[in-house]
Amino acid sequence: MRRWNGWGDDTIDFPLPASAQPFLEQRLGKPTPLPDASFKDVMAVVPPSRLPDHPLVIKAPRDRILHARGQSLPDWLALRSGKLGAFPDGVAYPVSAEQVRALITFVKDQDGILIPYGGGTSVVGHINPPATDRPILTVNLSRMNRLLNLDEESHIATFGAGASGPDVESQLRAHGYTLGHYPQSFEFSTLGGWIVTRSSGQQSLGYGKIERLFAGGTMETPSGPLEIQDFPASAAGPDLREIVMGSEGRLGILTRVKMRVSSLPPRESFRVFFLPHWDSGCEALRRIVQAGIPLSMLRLSNETETETQLALAGHRKAVRLLEKWLAFRGAGVQKCMVTVGITGTKRLHRTALKEASHIFHEEKAVHAGKVLGHKWKKNRFRAPYLRNLLWERGYCVDTLETAINWDRVSPLMAGVESTLTGTLVGEREKVLVFSHLSHLYSQGSSIYTTFLFRAADTYEGTLARWRRLKKAASETIMEHGGTITHHHGVGTDHAPYLLSEKGPLGINTIKALCRTFDPDGLMNPGKLVS
Ligand SMILES: Cc1cc2nc3c(=O)[nH]c(=O)nc-3n(C[C@H](O)[C@H](O)[C@H](O)COP(=O)(O)OP(=O)(O)OC[C@H]3O[C@@H](n4cnc5c(N)ncnc54)[C@H](O)[C@@H]3O)c2cc1C
Repeated sequence: MRRWNGWGDDTIDFPLPASAQPFLEQRLGKPTPLPDASFKDVMAVVPPSRLPDHPLVIKAPRDRILHARGQSLPDWLALRSGKLGAFPDGVAYPVSAEQVRALITFVKDQDGILIPYGGGTSVVGHINPPATDRPILTVNLSRMNRLLNLDEESHIATFGAGASGPDVESQLRAHGYTLGHYPQSFEFSTLGGWIVTRSSGQQSLGYGKIERLFAGGTMETPSGPLEIQDFPASAAGPDLREIVMGSEGRLGILTRVKMRVSSLPPRESFRVFFLPHWDSGCEALRRIVQAGIPLSMLRLSNETETETQLALAGHRKAVRLLEKWLAFRGAGVQKCMVTVGITGTKRLHRTALKEASHIFHEEKAVHAGKVLGHKWKKNRFRAPYLRNLLWERGYCVDTLETAINWDRVSPLMAGVESTLTGTLVGEREKVLVFSHLSHLYSQGSSIYTTFLFRAADTYEGTLARWRRLKKAASETIMEHGGTITHHHGVGTDHAPYLLSEKGPLGINTIKALCRTFDPDGLMNPGKLVS
């Protein structure tokens, strides 16, 4: 069963190796865990529903709790403390576009609010009910998860928009196809969520961000259905797909989506290289991407992320031996790990590896082979489970992401890291910060930063620490000219920074779209734009 107040399936744990505790205590200090509220405690505080009965709407407290929060750190603090504030007044699980339309009408008649819900994996407050007098209905799309059509000639698969990562891949693989979209939240996040938050998967270098994979589909809106045709390309004015992508549940509910799929690759391999330092790593990645070498993944961890990953990998003896060998080959204390994915035919493997290795060699990289690459693949969706154990020990973990052109990648990463490191100094608290580049473009790269800090002695104090860190880091991103988000979306947490990115006319354009599709303001108000 899915954990109600943490990440993932409750039969799965990703244990911390024995070496992790001393490493973290040395970096952050000894933690004191905060006590967790029980599910029963939270059940006791769910208020009566404000919605009238409807055959499609469930008003049981259990369903309302399970849809009350996403997966951001503030969401975790709310769930773990049992102080959730607002709950949806009901949850519906439609199975058809007709039922979705009926639910929109029901909410409109109640002067209520409707929150579309995919997998609830948002990390920026997308699906949280606002504090309001209006009744709130959360519409969970998970029952609309079927492969409806597969056009094998055009490589277009039509799905119910509530299909999760495993739903999508298992149904496509049965026919010899893949979407190739693997966000780390793959186990639970859905097609609809990916599209409206502009998600990016681990192999975006090969398969592209969701923008490249979404071909068209149907969105049910309070103003009626919007049909987007799946042309390979079109010059017929502004592209309506672009309006839907990033709409964050503000315009309507995607019910049916057409996705560009690929034949299952005959081969896929992941391998690891170590670069002597960050600058050589960045240079190698930029050169490889700009040369158009057909890799499916490149991920460059900076020095601290490399050190942390090796410290948390367990197998102390093997890691020590590896480090000695790497130092001997020129990748010493400042080494940075690069994970490389190659997906395709045998011939493509040979050519891509040869071309990439040539550049790596010129940048003095050491090839560490496939063992670490296999390990990465095996655990590719397991790392978030570490958050559960870290929380139980008294440590908070959060991540930030942005994107910027190559000339400013390193200064922005350094700026965000030094801001985060310094933000809690006044409280004599340390923050462990590390970053990687994992979604790469000819023009620039995303930057993904993870930060860990100790929980304070109260939930309120812990939230205050997170707020200071998030604000300081977001302001640093803005000062350096980065986007406030490369793939997590805006939700509520990034909304204050949108104006400086889009400008007043841009914001008014988005608001005008919301008014056109949703004149009564039913759809997920307060997210993206106010
Ligand atoms: C551990 C972890 C790892 C993550 N890794 C990644 C990653 O690698 N890449 C990445 O891009 N993101 C990642 N995320 C963020 C998150 O998974 C994405 O934002 C994802 O796209 C959300 O999908 P979802 O189905 O869970 O949507 P939800 O969280 O349920 O909803 C997100 C938004 O989409 C709207 N929505 C959902 N379905 C529909 C629909 N059918 N029609 C209209 N609106 C809809 C909701 O109203 C809401 O505004 C991660 C999150 C976690 C917790």
